[in-house]
Amino acid sequence: MRNCVDLSGKVAIVTGANSGIGKGVALELAAAGARVVVNHRPNEDSARRAAEVVQAITQAGGAAVAGPADISREDDVERLFGIAQERFQGLDILVNNAGIEQPAPVQDMTLDQWQRVIDVNLTGQFLCSRAAVRSFLKQHPSPPADTAAGAIVFISSVHEVIPWAFQANYAASKGGVSLLMQSLAQELAPMKIRVNSVAPGAIRTPINAPAWNTPESLVQLLKLIPYGRIGEPVDVARAVAWLASDSADYVTGHTLFVDGGMTLYPGFRGAG
Ligand code: NAD
Repeated sequence: MRNCVDLSGKVAIVTGANSGIGKGVALELAAAGARVVVNHRPNEDSARRAAEVVQAITQAGGAAVAGPADISREDDVERLFGIAQERFQGLDILVNNAGIEQPAPVQDMTLDQWQRVIDVNLTGQFLCSRAAVRSFLKQHPSPPADTAAGAIVFISSVHEVIPWAFQANYAASKGGVSLLMQSLAQELAPMKIRVNSVAPGAIRTPINAPAWNTPESLVQLLKLIPYGRIGEPVDVARAVAWLASDSADYVTGHTLFVDGGMTLYPGFRGAG
């Protein structure tokens, strides 16, 4: 399917872009013409996989650089945004994608499991958003007339609205992302900074492999998806590219569910 979004001249940071949805988003934004900072956790395996994403983009004629940072750490985030300035002299798009799961029954959930998920999925998204807004406002001290001063896209989840037993930390973090996104959108609209979310359903990535990597688990999963197939990273990436582009110039404060109808609760069809 052809990409019809134009991001030429734009600079983007994608967090957690060495894997899964983030990787798909980095490739899609680059294919649409953006120069991309491919964020990854500062460990050897993530660095190697980020280097592969950078290589795939440059081999296809695009521009990308790897950006090591644990996005839950304030000093790492400052360094990450410095890379966009040094290498590409600006920033137009932030995709807040990095996220983790640490499931446990609530009676067994340790404070560390609770805190780590909130630190990455919610605090990390705040830290990156704050750094992006500072960059946008520096570039555009007054709002531009014909375009946005910047765009932020959060990767949320259907679990910003669907409760998730045994993943209370994760669902709480994504519920938090929903109102973080809307509050920032309301606050920043007069500065012409657009803020939106994409909320994926079940996407084929390492984070949820047990839900799709055996025929039995896939059958169970598909019962939850009216559209009858699991999602792929590119399904999410295309929605992100559109929301980040000037084609979505009048869209802010919105969550776009990319979930094959999962939030339509298929169990209620003919029942309920
Ligand atoms: P994934 O495990 O493939 O990717 C997560 C990425 O985040 C990895 O690259 C990982 O290294 C990175 N990361 C984790 N902690 C980090 C940190 N502290 N600093 C920097 N990077 C960090 O899983 P994915 O499915 O691609 O997940 C991406 C996002 O999509 C997450 O926010 C997740 O909650 C969300 N999501 C995924 C699904 C799905 O079905 N796969 C559904 C809904 C939402």
